[in-house]
Amino acid sequence: MMGAAFQVKGLVVSVVASSAAVLGLILAENAGMLPHPDYSVTVTQWVTFTVLFGLTAGLTYYSNQITRESLVLAEREVEQRSRSEMELRKLTRAVEQSPASIVITDLWGNIEYVNPRFSKVTGYGFDEVLGKNPRILNAGQTPPGTHREMWQTLSAGKEWQGEFVNRRKDGTFYPESAIISPITDPQGLVTHYLAVKEDISERKQAEEALKVANQELSLRVAEVEGLQAELREQALHDPLTGLYNRRYLNEALAREMVRCRREVSPLSIIIADIDHFKLINDHYGHQTGDEVLVQVAALLKSQARGSDIACRYGGEEFLLVMPGSTLEFASKRAEEIRQKCAALAIEKEGKCLDVTLSFGIAACPEHGLEGEEVILKADLALYQSKAGGRNKVTVWRTTEIPA
Ligand code: GH3
Ligand code: MG
Ligand code: MG
Repeated sequence: MMGAAFQVKGLVVSVVASSAAVLGLILAENAGMLPHPDYSVTVTQWVTFTVLFGLTAGLTYYSNQITRESLVLAEREVEQRSRSEMELRKLTRAVEQSPASIVITDLWGNIEYVNPRFSKVTGYGFDEVLGKNPRILNAGQTPPGTHREMWQTLSAGKEWQGEFVNRRKDGTFYPESAIISPITDPQGLVTHYLAVKEDISERKQAEEALKVANQELSLRVAEVEGLQAELREQALHDPLTGLYNRRYLNEALAREMVRCRREVSPLSIIIADIDHFKLINDHYGHQTGDEVLVQVAALLKSQARGSDIACRYGGEEFLLVMPGSTLEFASKRAEEIRQKCAALAIEKEGKCLDVTLSFGIAACPEHGLEGEEVILKADLALYQSKAGGRNKVTVWRTTEIPA
């Protein structure tokens, strides 16, 4: 449409120009300024008119072309500007509605822009912080060196990432994570700093809660492990005396017998039984009986070596497995225990209890190569001690088991 208008204009200009030229010639002729027409003059006029018309048309065409090009450029510029404006509006909305706090400062750290999220988090309105330094948020709780490191990084033209502990307008503290980057102009010169920050109170609280929960869990796990270890111990120990129980003895003795056979080393077993224990229970009660059991067990334990296995074998019957001990050594040890037990001064109701032990001893390999066999012989020897008047040590002497 515009192009058509310009073309019409060109025609008008050329018509006016040619009409002015003709008019000029007519006036010149009337004024007698032109010589009488002859053939050569007519040709000259014709050539002049033609050149004039040609020039006029050319100029018109040229101006038309220039005008068209200018129009196209103008249209493009308008289009580009409106697109940029559209883009800019989008960006502005994104920044305004960003869930992160956004702060733009000049090179000296003076605030030029904060988004609504910043105001929501800090309590400071845009007007209150405009031209101020973000250090108004500094609560003095950010680890020393953080700000220095930040400025060093930014001054080197690099992006800085870190955490601050800031203070809101109402005085409350909040932890914040921040990414601060230098903004450069098209020549690459830093003109501003852009900070994108996030209030991480909730994350920190969740981390703290997780830490506490983890600590609690570790405590519980340690407790459970402790209980499990206790249970394991209990499963292998007699609860009253703390000595090993029969279950442990069976496992340990089997192991020791294998070793004894393999290494061809001796192993002695002492069985000790409290004499007339029933009487103690009957006279002084079950609880006193228990106390006696505990004391005898403690004595037995104190006389056992590290490699020995002291065990409560039955009600008032104890067993001491002595790997590496000969019969001779074991009988000496039993004799010592017998004497120490007889010397125990367990007082009850003003009286000293008479607590004695009877012993039976047998050994591998003399009396058998299996644990059960050796125990049986030791038990028989014990029976002999009982039969012989109690408070005695008897070593199994015969290889025959009486009927
Ligand atoms: P002997 O000299 O022949 O060994 O006689 P004794 O009385 O010691 O043996 P007996 O087998 O007649 O009695 C053992 C008693 O031990 C019977 C039982 O009530 C008691 N007893 C077993 N276990 C416990 C216990 O854990 N605590 C108490 N207080 N007594 C127990
Ligand atoms: Mg007894
Ligand atoms: Mg008994």
